[in-house]
Amino acid sequence: MSNSRGKKHYFSWLFLLLAIFILIGINGWKEELPINNGNGGNNQIIAGSNNSAADAGQSNDANKILSAVPKELRSSFFLEEKENRCCKTLLGNVAVAVVMVNDSASQWDDKATAELRTALQDNGREVIADAKAYGADLSLTFHYYTANITGDVGTDGEKDWQDQALESAGLPSVSKVHKYLTKQHSAKEAPLMFVLNKSGRATTSVTDVEWITMFHKSGYDGFEHELLHIFGAKDFYYPKEVKQWAVKYFPDSIMNTDGEEVDSLTAYLVGWTDTLADNALAFLKDSSRITESYMQEQNAKELFTGVGTKEYDNGTYTGDLLRGFRHGTGTMRYHNGGWYTGQWNNGQRSGYGTGKEIYDNGYYEGEFYNGKRHGQGTYVWTTGSKYTGQWTDGDRTGYGTFTWPDGTTKSGNWKDGQFIEQ
Ligand SMILES: [Zn+2]
Repeated sequence: MSNSRGKKHYFSWLFLLLAIFILIGINGWKEELPINNGNGGNNQIIAGSNNSAADAGQSNDANKILSAVPKELRSSFFLEEKENRCCKTLLGNVAVAVVMVNDSASQWDDKATAELRTALQDNGREVIADAKAYGADLSLTFHYYTANITGDVGTDGEKDWQDQALESAGLPSVSKVHKYLTKQHSAKEAPLMFVLNKSGRATTSVTDVEWITMFHKSGYDGFEHELLHIFGAKDFYYPKEVKQWAVKYFPDSIMNTDGEEVDSLTAYLVGWTDTLADNALAFLKDSSRITESYMQEQNAKELFTGVGTKEYDNGTYTGDLLRGFRHGTGTMRYHNGGWYTGQWNNGQRSGYGTGKEIYDNGYYEGEFYNGKRHGQGTYVWTTGSKYTGQWTDGDRTGYGTFTWPDGTTKSGNWKDGQFIEQ
């Protein structure tokens, strides 16, 4: 009797130990990166906390959703995407489907793929930390797919390449993919993201169905900004009046240029808080006269492709634009009297150009390459000294002549800004 009882205890202990091992095993598996889920996708889990029950089954009734907003402000343009379309709240288990697209101009390699995974993991952790600061429970997983398409994304303009990419990745079409992905990854929401191994302007489509497009060579600093868009956040960096209100009420908003914080209105839109802070209410009041059609016009301007003129904080550009970025050939006239005319690539001076750059201690006038003084050029100091000659990568390198204010000169070869020989 006692013997048999001892055996039972023995089996109970064994069972408990086995259970502990299984639990440790699961946790270890969760932390291991990358993970292959055996379904064609490649999983990357970056946070364990999990709240799949969060506002399940919420109705889409606008009055109920916007109950924290005073009635007279509910028609605000800035609120229209709250819990609209596929991705409603950035809460609980969220699975990001990352489709790595190879197009006719760019292909993914092992190095870029590893960089992508690391960057998304880091950026994902920041999103989770920002959610946590609002008391919101969020778990993000990344699931990787590969696709090959025939066109050239970016330079071809906005083409209908998304369905081609999804088909190549073995996924259903754009209209069905969200439903499929949430089921496949047992997620509450499954935002879709296309990535290309080249430079370009990151965008989020919320006009019909939702997806993010990002460009590896332009970096992933904008990942959180784009992800917030998918869940209802609006841009604050254009037009001018919107930017002014945003700067006043949300000075460091991630939805503005160079901002880093998730402001209270954005947190409300994506579901991280159910209440509207005073600054969010003040912003909505000030911006209440902004209409949707006006913003659509401004959006078309912001993302214009073709030859045009665009105003910037520091000057005016005339020339080629690609999705609103200076791209191709164009001239920038700066408010400080400087100018640049030449090649541009996704908003940056890239390739050859000529121009004049104004500094605190003088100015440079001459040739540029990739935004740096390069080729023939003259630097004139406010002291009256000047250098005329060759430049390489921003420095005086090559043959040149230095002239002192009294008119004496010295000609010869220079290297990295230093005089070498006569
Ligand atoms: Zn944006």
